[in-house]
Amino acid sequence: MQLTAGLRKAASFRADDVALVTSERSFSHGEMLDRVARLASVFRRLGVTGGERVAILAANGHEYIECYFAVLWAGGVVVPINSRFSLAEMIEQVTDAEPIVLVSDRSFLDSALQLADACRGITAVVAAAPGAAGLPKLYDYEAALADEKPCADAGRGNDDLACLFYTGGTTGRAKGVMLSHRNLWVNAVVTSLSFGFDETTVALHAGPLFHLGAGARVYTTSIMGGRHVVIPRFAPKDVLAAISHHKVTVATFVPTMLGMILQLPDLDSYDLSSLKLITYGASPMPEAVLQECLRRFPSIRFGQSYGMTELSPVATILSPDDHLPSAPRHRLRSAGRPVVSAEVRIVDAEDRQLKPGEVGEVVVRGPMVMMGYWKQPELTAHVLRGGWMHTGDSGRFDTEGYLYISDRIKDMIITGGENVYSIEVENAIAAHPDVLQCAVIGVPHAKWGEAVHAVVVRRPGSSLTTDELITFCRSVIADYKSPRSIEFRDDPLPLSSVNKINKAALRTPYWSDKDRRVN
Ligand code: ATP
Ligand code: MG
Repeated sequence: MQLTAGLRKAASFRADDVALVTSERSFSHGEMLDRVARLASVFRRLGVTGGERVAILAANGHEYIECYFAVLWAGGVVVPINSRFSLAEMIEQVTDAEPIVLVSDRSFLDSALQLADACRGITAVVAAAPGAAGLPKLYDYEAALADEKPCADAGRGNDDLACLFYTGGTTGRAKGVMLSHRNLWVNAVVTSLSFGFDETTVALHAGPLFHLGAGARVYTTSIMGGRHVVIPRFAPKDVLAAISHHKVTVATFVPTMLGMILQLPDLDSYDLSSLKLITYGASPMPEAVLQECLRRFPSIRFGQSYGMTELSPVATILSPDDHLPSAPRHRLRSAGRPVVSAEVRIVDAEDRQLKPGEVGEVVVRGPMVMMGYWKQPELTAHVLRGGWMHTGDSGRFDTEGYLYISDRIKDMIITGGENVYSIEVENAIAAHPDVLQCAVIGVPHAKWGEAVHAVVVRRPGSSLTTDELITFCRSVIADYKSPRSIEFRDDPLPLSSVNKINKAALRTPYWSDKDRRVN
């Protein structure tokens, strides 16, 4: 189970085919293999031989992809650093991960040098920032690579630690998740099986490569011998231009990205004819956005994945066939069926298995469940109790084995003793044609404990009022689920560093940390 095996195979049979493209550069499979094996030699020389961590702080670029493989090839552990963090947060993350080498690029060189200063364990910074060399500890990426000879793959074992990815930080401080070679290999195989990746795949990695949502797709594309396309950061126009220019066949987005793409006034002017499949996931897909996608892109297939960093990350997939007009429409609300490698169950608070139709916590077992949280044995033991990964998401199965995610347990609102799933209310609100974006949270209420509160961005020019929207919701969902209060905003809703709606930030003005129940 070598995550680097795809590179070797592609280089031996299709050495001259393009393996990796950015807006500036392009590398064949032969070149990519050679560069990865040389970069691995650089890491070896810097002391990476068996489990040492190499942190990456960079924009998406060819260096990022090369490091994903070269660090493993050298025998090390890949640690992507959240580049949207403040310096203080980065220091916290790097201090936690304890890397010995830090890879960076021109855009993050300053932060990388400050990190190397603050985190004593870092003995070398390898930066793709020509001209910056000369400082202590600093190596020029291209020059270092050119000076080395390719080395042999360390061939780490299936159960060895391969990557330390941090969670999205949606519900609190991001947790370091230890993923083994087996974990990532299994995920790569099952996702390529479900979505049909092969050597003709041209995959656009649109999300930040410090997050596993984008990162796992790098391994999936590579083990199948496909081609990577990377752009420095997500911007709707750049994404569409890259799809058209590089003839991308598969792109992966989080729902907010798709929402932004749909807003482009000149959407129809891009040639997206190469694009066969869009996959989405990582946060709930608003029904209205999905319907609009299916309407605007009738010749593109869609696929959803549900999972989490702790699951490498995919647990269930709603297949492209389930998105066809001939499939039952209600399934578009589901997160699909468990992938081949995953057993998924719904359990109650005492971990007893529930029946189809009953809502409880989603738990998952299988070879893609993480090794554990980095340096957090107690939390690991708690979430992996009984051999099942407790996701913190609530959901239910239907009788045909489709999983419906109700909500994050932490986002569920308990009002007057009734459970209200924020996602259900959001879908009701978003069904109103004047609503562009919305999020539903619980706010303190003297009588009911919590009350349902909605934060809404209207379409430009709309004069929709609170009363009108509440009346609309009551025509779609039960009264007790409908919002009691609505706050209209002109600006887009706050997003986390991986573009998920940041409900914690929306809740902050209403709650002090101690106030809100902890599930
Ligand atoms: P943190 O754990 O740090 O709070 P996070 O949970 O957002 O952050 P990730 O591992 O990136 O970190 O995200 C996993 C979570 O994202 C899941 O637990 C689930 O709540 C949500 N999610 C992922 N895919 C889907 C999906 N298809 N539909 C609904 N929710 C999803
Ligand atoms: Mg999580």
